[in-house]
Amino acid sequence: MPWPPAVDLYSDTQTKPTAAMRRAMADAEVGDEQQRTDPTVNRLCDRVAEMLGHEAGLFLPTGTMCNLVAVAAHTSPGDAIVASVDSHIVRSETGGAAAYSGVITDLLGSDGGRFGPEAAAEALAPGNAYRPWPRLLCLEQTHNFGGGTVWPLAQYQAVAAVAHETSVPVHTDGARLFNATVASGTEAADWGGPVDSIWIDFTKGLGAPIGAVLVGGSDFIEAARVHKHRCGGAMRQAGIAAAGCLHALDHHIDRLADDHANAARLAEGISALGLGTEDVETNMVWIDVTSTGLRAAEFLERLAAHDVRMSRVEERVRAVTHLDVSAGDIETALRAVGAVLAELS
Ligand SMILES: *Cc1c(COP(=O)(O)O)cnc(C)c1O
Repeated sequence: MPWPPAVDLYSDTQTKPTAAMRRAMADAEVGDEQQRTDPTVNRLCDRVAEMLGHEAGLFLPTGTMCNLVAVAAHTSPGDAIVASVDSHIVRSETGGAAAYSGVITDLLGSDGGRFGPEAAAEALAPGNAYRPWPRLLCLEQTHNFGGGTVWPLAQYQAVAAVAHETSVPVHTDGARLFNATVASGTEAADWGGPVDSIWIDFTKGLGAPIGAVLVGGSDFIEAARVHKHRCGGAMRQAGIAAAGCLHALDHHIDRLADDHANAARLAEGISALGLGTEDVETNMVWIDVTSTGLRAAEFLERLAAHDVRMSRVEERVRAVTHLDVSAGDIETALRAVGAVLAELS
């Protein structure tokens, strides 16, 4: 495959920092993050906590570490956490919750990553002398493997309320939270308010090179900070990275609507070419290539020969739009898909 590909729809992690973001990073005021004296990191944490309606924030290098330290701060070894079977924390974090916190994960079936309050209530029934105690409910917004889907706010609130009725805290993986706010016309605080901890990733649609911020109550964040340090996540002049994140908050949220429009156009074009697609709610298009007779991996190889990159999860092909994909690139990608199909006929 020619590298880099002309159009890279592999993931919204493939963005490169813009010139303006790099300038903001170069000019950042810095201190010692580990000693809490980096002013840019402190500004970022305060700002994200306020946006999400929580007391305090913690700057971490990655979203995966946000999930890792949040589970650790909420649980004790032998506890159960509850998460949908297709969630990132279950599928894509190398068992970190089990390895680091010693928890067992109870898996919930889901509809595009979402489930209702009845299913949550059943999974959160109190433990006993035999059954592990559920101590955390994990949600994901938007839901990645669910299809880039958005939880309706009322359903999200209802599920969180059920957990709180049994005194179980709720943690939201908001790696792509702003895709959800832009798609649903809601505010970040609408999603932060009903839960006990939540984080956002700056390296997905927001287009920064490093960083995620976890927020919650002050006590929770202090506990999470201990785990961050233990995991080797306490940094030094991290304001360089935080400045890129602040720049993203100022300049890269509203434009997510462009990514959503590009994804909708891509799905429409792919359907017109005769392939099935799942409903597009945000910046992901999930494509069913079984009608081509090719395995997903073969389809991706053929597409790569036409200079377009997508990814797959098992037999579902995924295309993700982002900052570095233009409307013109979508047309290029559609021509490449058309060319792959033409080669088969
Ligand atoms: C990417 C992603 C993560 C992990 O974030 P990193 O910053 O790559 O570690 C966690 N959850 C979801 C839903 C994601 O898409």
